[in-house]
Amino acid sequence: MVSQSENGLKIVKDATCTFCGCVCDDIDLKVDGHQIVEAKRACVLGTSWFMNHEIEDTPPCHIDGKPASVEEGIERAAQLLSAAKYPLIYGLSDTTSESQRVAVGIGDWIGGNVDTTTSVCHGPSGMAFQGVGEVTCSLGEVKNRADMIMFWGSNPAESHPRHFTKYSLMPKGMFLLNGRKDRTCVVVDVRKTKSAKAADIFLQIKPRKDFEGLWTLRALANDVELDPEEVERETGQPLSLWQDLMDRMKAAKFGIIFFGMGVTMTRGKHANSEAILALTRDMNKHTRFVCKPNRGHGNVTGADNVVAWRTGFPFGVNLARGYPRFNPGEYTAADVLARKEADAALIIASDPMSNFSQPAREDLASIPYVAMDPKDTPTTRQAAVSFTVATYGINVPGTVYRMDDVPIPLRPAFDSPLPSDFDILTGIEKRVRELKANGLTKPNLHSSLRPA
Ligand code: SF4
Repeated sequence: MVSQSENGLKIVKDATCTFCGCVCDDIDLKVDGHQIVEAKRACVLGTSWFMNHEIEDTPPCHIDGKPASVEEGIERAAQLLSAAKYPLIYGLSDTTSESQRVAVGIGDWIGGNVDTTTSVCHGPSGMAFQGVGEVTCSLGEVKNRADMIMFWGSNPAESHPRHFTKYSLMPKGMFLLNGRKDRTCVVVDVRKTKSAKAADIFLQIKPRKDFEGLWTLRALANDVELDPEEVERETGQPLSLWQDLMDRMKAAKFGIIFFGMGVTMTRGKHANSEAILALTRDMNKHTRFVCKPNRGHGNVTGADNVVAWRTGFPFGVNLARGYPRFNPGEYTAADVLARKEADAALIIASDPMSNFSQPAREDLASIPYVAMDPKDTPTTRQAAVSFTVATYGINVPGTVYRMDDVPIPLRPAFDSPLPSDFDILTGIEKRVRELKANGLTKPNLHSSLRPA
């Protein structure tokens, strides 16, 4: 809802913060022209996201480093992507689901690899979901029902500052009238994080031993006898502590395990995620238990949902044969680039030039690619075609998915003179289709995913 305050400032009620996967949609903004001057209820990260927002004073498009019109940029991008034999589309976690949908469509038309930043954070969980399945729930259910809150390899006190207060630990719920007092909080991690200080029980396990800790709990959930010495040697904690934790988990009415990159990006990776999913499944023989990855980027969950909706797989998908193939490690962006396989790329709302490995960065720098981002980044600087776009959530409407897969509408604060990535992607898709339909570039095999 938008209204005007007494001193002439624009008030945007229930704006959505897209800085982290909590996607808080209760932020009241005060807007003075093109400046947000107050972000009520936002945490320190969200406040910085809103209040430091500035529209880049730059042309919306550059081709080979020189200013160009958006139309020229769309034409060059479409030509470049259509002519490629092994194009790559990557990023997508910091834009709307509407843009994600169009980007996957482009990937389909050009027969490319479609990958998202999930492949470098919760990709192992995405693989585990395919193998084990997920017992899950919404954050609303956590707030209203969960009396046993576990965080494993996750530090929301610093990464998702409102997680505790809005969803998991502090709020009073329908069946937890006393809020925090009615909940037990357990943190399992390799170091004493800020979140550990908020926990009732902190289990510090040996680094790279999450798999062993999780399988200890699985064994206890299934009444398997364990060797106390081996458990302590492998996990760093005595069997008695694990048994005490299991007893509490069984006694809970509704338990949840939130897990983070401390699980998915350490030794074991997808095997660790599988162990958490399997432990959650085991616990349902005793009581209601669910699990949820704590997702980082504002719409990384949307990226998983949209790519899965359009291709059947959440990330690391290859469409070159006209049908989707899923193989993380083969079709994931960092690997495709490190093996020097891609001959063109489309990077959306992501900065692989800052965080990919040296071989992957060197290869990306050696191929023509298109980049779009609200900010000037090392990735946009080296792009053959770069677009400076409006910021989702602050300038651009649309839909994002909260970390619990609930879609949330965006309520932008003010318009931007810059185009949205949705408009640019739509233009590129339209032109790519024309080029393909007229045989102006190498045709791809037909895909059943293409719209009629
Ligand atoms: S917790 Fe995350 S989504 Fe909520 S206000 Fe803070 S940064 Fe924004």
